[in-house]
Amino acid sequence: PINPWYIGGPVVKGYGRGSKVLGIPTANLSTEGYSDVLSEHPSGVYFGWAGVSTRGIFKMVMSIGWNPFFDNAEKTIEPWLLHDFDDDFYGEDLRLVVVGYIRPEANFPSLESLIAKIQEDGRIAERALDLPLYSKYRNDQYLKQHD
Ligand code: ADP
Ligand code: MG
Repeated sequence: PINPWYIGGPVVKGYGRGSKVLGIPTANLSTEGYSDVLSEHPSGVYFGWAGVSTRGIFKMVMSIGWNPFFDNAEKTIEPWLLHDFDDDFYGEDLRLVVVGYIRPEANFPSLESLIAKIQEDGRIAERALDLPLYSKYRNDQYLKQHD
């Protein structure tokens, strides 16, 4: 277990690949103001809880890093909320409590293997977040303090 950490802000536009290329939407957060938190935590895949101002609290699995498969120039914070939404929520306040780490960032030989690994990350997060050790953070006040 890691010490939980907290990040939040309005959902911003990313490279537009999540849904279109992978079939997996990620609600990107700006990395601005988070250089300390990001340097304290290695690039990789994490899980935790996400609070969306108008919608509630959901499980999430998140990539932090440069996405080597796409060779991004900038580090991104990209939580995939494990819930089916009917529409987008760009601009809404999103708050994350990050409670666990799954794996380091990796490259993949094909798009199919990348998608398969992300789906597996999602299943791991889904199960882990039901454990009392992690489920208790669903009630963290930070997730509800939208400005
Ligand atoms: P972008 O590159 O702009 O982040 P994505 O293809 O990753 O584009 O799509 C992300 C957007 O889709 C989010 O900003 C959010 O508004 C919406 N969205 C819908 N469902 C989800 C979900 N389950 N998890 C994360 N974002 C979602
Ligand atoms: Mg995205």
